[in-house]
Amino acid sequence: MPSRKAKAAEAAERSRRAFLIGVAGLGAAGAGAIGLASWLFQREPRLPTVAIVTREAWGALPANPAGSIEGLYDPAVNPEGYLVYDRPLTVALKDLIVHHTATSFDATPVDVQRLHMQDRGYADVGYHYLIGADGTVYEGRAIEARGAHTGGRNTGAIGVSLFGNFELTEPTVAQLDSLWRLSTALCHDYWIARLGGHRDYQPGATVCPGATLWPRLPDLAGACKVSLVRADF
Ligand SMILES: [Zn+2]
Repeated sequence: MPSRKAKAAEAAERSRRAFLIGVAGLGAAGAGAIGLASWLFQREPRLPTVAIVTREAWGALPANPAGSIEGLYDPAVNPEGYLVYDRPLTVALKDLIVHHTATSFDATPVDVQRLHMQDRGYADVGYHYLIGADGTVYEGRAIEARGAHTGGRNTGAIGVSLFGNFELTEPTVAQLDSLWRLSTALCHDYWIARLGGHRDYQPGATVCPGATLWPRLPDLAGACKVSLVRADF
C-alpha cells in the first residue's frame, strides 16, 4: 500500500505531465481524474525544487532607479516609478503574469536587461524571472521590487518570461517544465491568488505570451491551485 506522501508525489507528477502534454491531448476521463487527484492531495503539496541563476551569476547591471526614465516611485509625481514593497511579500504579491520575450530562443538575460534599461528606460530588467530554451531559470528584477512588464497591472504582480516568440514557435519541453516548477513554488511561497498571460491582464495591447503558450495557462493555474485570469478578445 503506497503511503499518503507517495500518492501525493504521484499526483503531483501526473499533474506536471498533464501540463507538459497539454490536457487537450488527454481524454475527458483522464483530465477528470487529474482534477480529482489534485483536489484530494492539495493539503499536502509536493513542491518541486527550482535552481535559479542569480543576477550576479549572469552579470546583471545594478538597478538604476534614479538614473532611469522609470524613476523612483513617488505617489504624487511618479506613481509608476520603481517601487520596493513596504509590506510582507505574501501580502503585497497576488498575481503571476506569464510572458514571452518575443526574441529568439538564444537571447540572454543581458540582452533583455539592455533592451529594457537602454531602449525603454526602465530602472532594471522588467521581469522577475526569465526561462531559457534549455529550462534554465534566471533571476530578473528583485522580487521585492515592482516589475515593469504589464502596463497598469504591475503592482503586486510577479512577471515570468520565457525566451522565444511563441507566435512563431513552441516553447520547449524544458521551458514548460521549468515554468511549472517555478510557478508552483512561487504561488505557494507568496500566497499568489491569480495567474494569467500578459494579454489577459492588458487586453487588446498585446498577444504575449503567444499563441502556443497562452492555451497552456489554464492547466498551469490548475497545477498552482490559483484562479485563472482570462480575457477573451
Ligand atoms: Zn508580455
